[in-house]
Amino acid sequence: MTNNGRTTCLVVGGGPAGMVLGLIMARAGVEVTVLEKHADFLRDFRGDTVHASTLTLLDELGLAGRFAGVPHRTLDRMQVQLDGGTAQFADLRRLPGAHQHIALVPQWDFLDMLADAARDEPTFTLRRDAEVVGLLRDAGRVAGVRYRARTDGTEHEIRAGLTVACDGRHSTVRGAAGLTPRSFGVPMDVWWFRLPRRAEDPEGGVARFSTGHFCVMIDRGDYWQCAYLIGKGTDGVLRAAGIGELRRRFAGLLPWMADRVGELRSFEDVKLLDVRLDRLRRWYAPGLLLLGDAAHAMSPVGGVGINLAIQDAVAAARILGPALRSGGIVGPGLLRRVQRRRWAPTVAIQTFQRLAHRMILGPALTDPAPQDQAPANPGPMAAQPTPAGPPPLGSASRR
Ligand SMILES: Cc1cc2nc3c(=O)[nH]c(=O)nc-3n(C[C@H](O)[C@H](O)[C@H](O)COP(=O)(O)OP(=O)(O)OC[C@H]3O[C@@H](n4cnc5c(N)ncnc54)[C@H](O)[C@@H]3O)c2cc1C
Repeated sequence: MTNNGRTTCLVVGGGPAGMVLGLIMARAGVEVTVLEKHADFLRDFRGDTVHASTLTLLDELGLAGRFAGVPHRTLDRMQVQLDGGTAQFADLRRLPGAHQHIALVPQWDFLDMLADAARDEPTFTLRRDAEVVGLLRDAGRVAGVRYRARTDGTEHEIRAGLTVACDGRHSTVRGAAGLTPRSFGVPMDVWWFRLPRRAEDPEGGVARFSTGHFCVMIDRGDYWQCAYLIGKGTDGVLRAAGIGELRRRFAGLLPWMADRVGELRSFEDVKLLDVRLDRLRRWYAPGLLLLGDAAHAMSPVGGVGINLAIQDAVAAARILGPALRSGGIVGPGLLRRVQRRRWAPTVAIQTFQRLAHRMILGPALTDPAPQDQAPANPGPMAAQPTPAGPPPLGSASRR
């Protein structure tokens, strides 16, 4: 066990919450170390939606120029394709403020951009391949963490004035602190896979909804990142039906994709994403704060989780930064203020997600048995793509 010294603010997890917190704290002159268990940000499972509020934050942080250099698309309307036609459910062109769209940006590019900006700050350190495995305590207070270097398996300690858990839905820190979130239950999980994208396909995104079937596809240039919803806990039974069944269902749902579903060679190409919706009653303990999904795991409904996590980080940096910069102890009063600031928007959005689960997705996904018919659209593998394809998720532009 090596003692790797001390930092003022120790952030566990380099996702959206952790990287934004690290950047803003460092900009405020606070010594901050971010520990991230992976070697890079190349994880494709976290969605791509950067909302107008986050784009405004990037402006405020002076990152608009860097962001413009990151390849992304923009959406200003959101539509879903139903069996009987297309329904528009959001028109962002009416939003007040500087941005009237959502940006779709692969999350690894977004996190790389934040890491590059943070690296310019002398008080910022990012340690990759550093997996936190436990907490250090002093007189009942969290005083830092133990982490394992994944490169060589060695264990290290790092002590901190404040430890902030931004380590996501399966937070190790939360478990080590003995905190258990209240789970709200969800009706679905997600199958996550890629299919080729052709030049004549729509840009931006596609959402398709039919009884028993729902999918969203995100345009990532030369491929579609596909999210196909399945009933919670049905992964095993659906996989047992074979990859041909998924191809048949998907082609039935989106006939213009039928010419390429064969690219799904086996279920090795299809990842299961476990969807959760939960929330801690208290987001802090002495010496410890939890933010983002570690405090409140978000469902993918509405594509808001990244943005909520970032707003948590901004609130925490603004409330705690001055005390940490002056070397003061961050007591429970300040930590409570962070939770209070973020509680109402979190509860409101989770309530909206629960309603969407209960009233739309749950009932719609009650029909996913493998022997069921694919949606009423024309056909399975042999079907030709429709010439124009479906309407996109919203009007999109590419940069
Ligand atoms: C299927 C699905 C699709 C989604 N799609 C969208 C979307 O399109 N748009 C959207 O806004 N939200 C989406 N969400 C929600 C969104 O992914 C989360 O709300 C958001 O990523 C939370 O950010 P975070 O920084 O709190 O945690 P995370 O993004 O989970 O980041 C946690 C980080 O901590 C690291 N870590 C974990 N454990 C340790 C450890 N022990 N030590 C060190 N590091 C550790 C991880 O490697 C990771 O980098 C989706 C969620 C799901 C399940």
